[in-house]
Amino acid sequence: MKADSDTTGADPAAVPPVLRGPDGRARTAAASGRRGGAAARETRLKGIPVSPGVAIGAIFDTTEPPAEAPRRGIAAAEVEAERQRLADAVAASRKQVAKLKTRIGVLPEEAQEELAPLLDAYAMMLGNSRLIRGARKRIETDLVAAETAVQDEAETIAAAILAARDDDKAGLLRRAQEVREIARRLTRNLTASPFRSFKDIPEGAILVAEELTPADAALLNPARIAGVATEEGGADGHTAIMLRALGIPSVLGCHGLTEAARRGDPCVLDGTAGTVTLNPSAATLTAARNALAAFARERAKLAKLRRLPAVTTDGEEVELQANLEIPAELPLIAQAGAQGIGLLRTEFLFMNREDLPDEEAQVATYAEILEAMDGEPVTIRVLDWGGEKDIEALAEGVPALTGPNPALGLRGVRMLLKRPELLEVQFAAILRVAAAKGCVRILLPMVTVPAEVKQAREIYERVARRLRRRGEKLPDPLPPLGVMIETPGAALAADAIALEADFFAIGTNDLAMYTLAVDRAEAEVAHLYDPLHPAVLRLVQFATEAALRLRMPVSVCGEMAGNPRLVPLLLGLGIRSLSMNASAIPRAKQAVRALDIADCARFARRVMEQSDPARIQELVMGFAEGLTDKA
Ligand code: PEP
Ligand code: MG
Repeated sequence: MKADSDTTGADPAAVPPVLRGPDGRARTAAASGRRGGAAARETRLKGIPVSPGVAIGAIFDTTEPPAEAPRRGIAAAEVEAERQRLADAVAASRKQVAKLKTRIGVLPEEAQEELAPLLDAYAMMLGNSRLIRGARKRIETDLVAAETAVQDEAETIAAAILAARDDDKAGLLRRAQEVREIARRLTRNLTASPFRSFKDIPEGAILVAEELTPADAALLNPARIAGVATEEGGADGHTAIMLRALGIPSVLGCHGLTEAARRGDPCVLDGTAGTVTLNPSAATLTAARNALAAFARERAKLAKLRRLPAVTTDGEEVELQANLEIPAELPLIAQAGAQGIGLLRTEFLFMNREDLPDEEAQVATYAEILEAMDGEPVTIRVLDWGGEKDIEALAEGVPALTGPNPALGLRGVRMLLKRPELLEVQFAAILRVAAAKGCVRILLPMVTVPAEVKQAREIYERVARRLRRRGEKLPDPLPPLGVMIETPGAALAADAIALEADFFAIGTNDLAMYTLAVDRAEAEVAHLYDPLHPAVLRLVQFATEAALRLRMPVSVCGEMAGNPRLVPLLLGLGIRSLSMNASAIPRAKQAVRALDIADCARFARRVMEQSDPARIQELVMGFAEGLTDKA
């Protein structure tokens, strides 16, 4: 599923408006493969399909970071901290530029020759350059924050370049723009702010960006945006999950996109095939309109399943629940006919803010969600910070969170046990809402050893005692405390962890990532990310059997659960509860209603005998096609 491109002259870097060739001259529009005055040529780029559906709209690019961060003064005591922030931003920017350089290898030779010197110039500016030295100095002499120092220094340098006596005005402009471009990249890394311009996106536009963080995705309004396409990102990263949840057709990991796309260009995006077609021909547009109509017909057909039960042909009931990342999805969950929320990711409460939500704020949010679910069960997962889910308000207080490899650091329950006051507030809020609205379960993320569950349970019971002393009436017994099985360590120790837990939720997204050593959000290695790898499936099987032996509830809540082709395998392994993005529920229900449990068990045994991922893929596809033939 490696992203590639069949266009010419495109590059994967967030390049500045003026490009230069190896001779140092600015490229013409024609040489760079951009549109000239004549009718634009259709260009099709390939990326990773992450959220199905077709979108037709005009490009709205947000690759330009906010031009300026507000000016900010600092106290003398903050100088060292600001210098450290600058050093961190320089390091992050150098890494990004180095990565862009490795990625231009996929482009035609001519484009590589043009871009390599530009990226080298960027790398030099991020070394011991006048820009960096000047910014460092300004922090101390002008007593300003790092972003203000960078912007001031960049403008001084750009003004000096533009004032130089030289006939090559285009060359001077180009050099000034290069300095400003690096300053913008540094500012973006320093402020780590989501693209605030989302609210200005014209209705029906296709959003194009170099990268979208989960926090950015949380700001998108699915009613206004027709589609999303980005250079970076992988199939099961949190950004992809959010886009699927919002039902926005999306293609991530699309190399060459930010260079080839221009604001206002007409575009067809196919989130099922993973293609972005710029300046589509009349034939492409007609095909896209037909696909849109077919998609709408299919949705209407699936909507009829809403009230039908998820029962196999031999009468086995399967629980189909929804995952929820942001409250905006609640109406979609109701439409999908979910039997409750199987995974409420609470990270959204902590995103896009500088402070932490207190107990009352959390109570209000959980109460709103439980009320909307009208008595259906809700499994609330306590905060899972880490990896791509960057939360500024927390990074400050826990330096280790910003360590070299957050995915292997203080993620999930590890961080909560280090900062128990966070867990206490969250437990208290959930317990208060459970008392009033009922039917709640609590889930711990990133557990690897039974001791973590024990420790978390001690805190849970302590919080409950405190609330009871305060006169709160809590459910008796307390809501079940379950564990995410999402690392190979947890899966293989599932029998021991099961003794401490009340239920398991198998998180196949992280389980695949940690088992295969493949970052789930990384476009470069997306082709290696495979939840059907036998190693992942054996871990799912081991954990499921450990739970079933103890008659303990077990569900799958990773993205795997929402793939109708994988439903037979999961049922065959003994799973009877699946939680997925709401829009996937109708198709999963359609699959369940066509299955026979004995067939699924036989099929799962065949799959589990295999050790070749390609053969497993073949078997899964073959079984799914058999089902389609029957339907
Ligand atoms: C998982 O890892 O499979 C999971 C469901 O959790 P998240 O995607 O939020 O990390
Ligand atoms: Mg996870």
